[in-house]
Amino acid sequence: MTKRVVLIGHPVAHSLSGAMQQAAFDARGIDARYELWDRAPIDFPDAITDVRGDDFLGANVTIPHKERVVPLIDRLTEEAQVTGAVNTLTREGRRLVGHNTDVPGFAVALDKLVGRAKMPRQAVVLGAGGGSRAVVYGLIRAGFLRIVVFNRHLHRAESLVKHFARSAAHMELRAMPWHESIIESELAKTRVLVNATSIGLAADVSPIPAAILGPELLVLDLIYKRTRLLRDAEAAGCTASDGEAMLLHQGAAAFTLWTGLAAPLDVMGDALASARAGGVRSAEGEPAGNETGNETGDEPAAATAG
Ligand code: NDP
Repeated sequence: MTKRVVLIGHPVAHSLSGAMQQAAFDARGIDARYELWDRAPIDFPDAITDVRGDDFLGANVTIPHKERVVPLIDRLTEEAQVTGAVNTLTREGRRLVGHNTDVPGFAVALDKLVGRAKMPRQAVVLGAGGGSRAVVYGLIRAGFLRIVVFNRHLHRAESLVKHFARSAAHMELRAMPWHESIIESELAKTRVLVNATSIGLAADVSPIPAAILGPELLVLDLIYKRTRLLRDAEAAGCTASDGEAMLLHQGAAAFTLWTGLAAPLDVMGDALASARAGGVRSAEGEPAGNETGNETGDEPAAATAG
């Protein structure tokens, strides 16, 4: 029987994960099909029930469901528990286990960004969604001592900070309101800037003005393309990377969880590159509506799926 793995998000039509994971299954001779399921929040619990069936190896969960899935499943790994966000599901019989492979994916991306330099200790993170939680946890684990999180809706950044109270007890983790002058003054004190918002995904805009980027900054945009932020950062003399390494390595970790096999990284990387060249452009589904003023970030105004 052909096994199934699904990516559940809303929307998901532009996701790159399908190309990457299908290529990996085919390369390892695994009879499995990777499917994209566009499920609005109201239909999400039924999708989770379906994934408990015997024909499923597991699933990926993406925008906007990474936090919503937590109460619907049976067990969380440590990384999923600490972040409060899940991007990968595996089955134990009818029980579902939630993992967060964005955490190891981000660790690889951070190491590549920093290169041979000494790991910095201060970071500014833009965004407080599911991706941001993996970023903040990764930064804490990498030894950062001051992390400031800015988010459009401050309360979401505040709940993130509260969520990490225990893991961040030894360091300074703060939520701050999204004002350009405050972001500018924090950037002047920091070495690492991570964009974990979806600003720049659907439109060619940057979350912050180019003028506040200093040449000392190491800039990582989780979005898997050369965003306006990354172009501005390069023009300012910063070191800049997109979300490719994180996407590839979170996918590789998920593949291993579903199959027990080492992931064919080269094959997956090539599949990502071709999907990108073919016009598939979102790492994580395309959050239509979020960039045009959707207030909750939960319900994309008009899904671009299909
Ligand atoms: P969520 O929907 O959980 O969070 C979206 C974030 O973007 C929130 O902080 C939201 O702010 C912010 N945002 C969206 N639109 C605006 C806007 N117009 N102005 C200000 N803030 C805005 O998504 P994720 O955290 O899962 O993903 C965020 C981004 O990271 C996506 O682009 C995704 O593709 C990418 N990503 C990439 C990964 C990779 O492997 N490379 C892994 C994970 C994510 P608010 O809370 O105020 O709505």
